[in-house]
Amino acid sequence: MQILIKMYHMLNKGKNLALTVGLLAGLSFTACQNNGATKSEQVEKDSLEAYVDERIKIYEKVKLTTNINALSPSERKMLPLLIEAAGIMDELFWKQAYPKRDSLLSTIKSENTREFVRINYGPWDRLNGDKPFVTGIGEKPLTGTFYPLGMTKEELESSDVKDKYGLYSVIRRKEGKLVSVPYHVEFANELLKASNLLKEAASLAEDPGLKKYLNLRADALVTDKYEASDYAWLDMKNNGLDIIIGPIENYEDKLLNARAAFEAYVLVKDKEWSKRLAKYVAMLPALQKGLPVEAKYKQEVPGTDSELNAYDVVYYAGDCNSGSKTIAVNLPNDEVIQQKKGTRRSQLKNAMKAKFDKILVPISKELIAPEQQQYINFDSFFANVMFHEVAHGLGIKNTITGKGTVRASLQEQYSWLEEGKADVLGLYMVTSMLKSGDLEGDLKSFYTTYMAGILRSVRFGASSAHGKANMQCFNYFKEKGAFQRSEAGVYSVNFEKFESAMNDLSKYILTLQGNGDKSAVLKAQQERGIIGAELQADLDRLGRKGIPVDIVFEQGVDVLGVK
Ligand SMILES: [Zn+2]
Repeated sequence: MQILIKMYHMLNKGKNLALTVGLLAGLSFTACQNNGATKSEQVEKDSLEAYVDERIKIYEKVKLTTNINALSPSERKMLPLLIEAAGIMDELFWKQAYPKRDSLLSTIKSENTREFVRINYGPWDRLNGDKPFVTGIGEKPLTGTFYPLGMTKEELESSDVKDKYGLYSVIRRKEGKLVSVPYHVEFANELLKASNLLKEAASLAEDPGLKKYLNLRADALVTDKYEASDYAWLDMKNNGLDIIIGPIENYEDKLLNARAAFEAYVLVKDKEWSKRLAKYVAMLPALQKGLPVEAKYKQEVPGTDSELNAYDVVYYAGDCNSGSKTIAVNLPNDEVIQQKKGTRRSQLKNAMKAKFDKILVPISKELIAPEQQQYINFDSFFANVMFHEVAHGLGIKNTITGKGTVRASLQEQYSWLEEGKADVLGLYMVTSMLKSGDLEGDLKSFYTTYMAGILRSVRFGASSAHGKANMQCFNYFKEKGAFQRSEAGVYSVNFEKFESAMNDLSKYILTLQGNGDKSAVLKAQQERGIIGAELQADLDRLGRKGIPVDIVFEQGVDVLGVK
């Protein structure tokens, strides 16, 4: 079971509620003015189309490319095979999310609505609480297609069905009785096809680690036994290409968070950056000693065996391509494998660059003081995101108060605080390594870009752990004078106070975690995990100026030129 473990790194998942509240209010107003029963359907259709015409603007389109010339001839031959296999995951995710895609699309005339259905893999707006946006659709059923329509948790729990909470099966009703059907049976044809494509790619692979992984993953797809391929994936060190493929995350199962949804990422490794990342992981134990907190809160020794790599992602398919797009991934999810062997954290560099160009830069132009805009750059953004990932390894995993692990003692208050910790300790790492000469760059750039990053991430809303973490940071830094807001609503960093605020917040969070005092964390969230009226007004300006919330991709063999 992986219900409590949010290992997949959703740096950019969340909802931009601020942007839509006004819109929704407008819609209900329109609907109220037209009470004629014969007209009501048309009115609903018109207002939903108007809704979609606004909402589709939150997504900016970008092309996914990489330097194909850096690939070997056999890698260039493998890419189309991997992309085709990924395409099958996309089809399978449609089957899971909304199996009647084609008949739905055939009834929709508005091109925007058709496109919005494709972006959302169905007629529900994923970044606005799954609001239905097609006439007559109704609420998204909690059961999805993972369970029979109308089945309740209680019915499943009291039944004697096999594999109740299985990752890799669906529950069906047969002659009134619940039965489970494994994915490799339910989706046999598609999975066999994908499996064969992976085997064909394996036959072309030069790197033995990649060859082994692809063959084992091919076997896993048709047996639902993924362990061996997960281990082989973690063992790979020298591969130039990679593919994350299969049923992986369980967020799409809204009833139980138990069953996994199909997805794939096709990746090209950035070898130079990956080498640099390995160096930083090795520095964790020394950085841990320097943390600005009492010794008892930093007594653990951080592990250095975690794999950290940078990639260009050339294809997103299925679950990870729905709603907002992930730019850093931490896998596998299997807890046993994690304990035995750790995880691999994958930074998707070109997707980050796209979010930087299309979202962070426009936000900065609006919200960062003109004289500090020179400090906003991609290298700082990438480093901040990357060191966030590394910084999850700093601090402590066990409370010092005998309350067990930090995760267990803080329960549902754990995730947002842990994300806040990784943000601020990532910045602490940057600061320390700049001082020691292990990192190059200008501290002012890292700090100003970090500030812009906070303003980007608070838009994810309070329903997202990252959103809350950034709200806390914003409010804490504001109290400490780490930045000023002008009357016109632009922000400028106070470089001296930024560093001391960073140290204070680090100490504050590490102490909360070490104490494992859940009520204190809840209080912190209620006090600082919120958006004040002033900040909200500034964020509303971003919405009005049409600054996107997320990206969608043009991708595939044509875009890459590897056909
Ligand atoms: Zn994180």
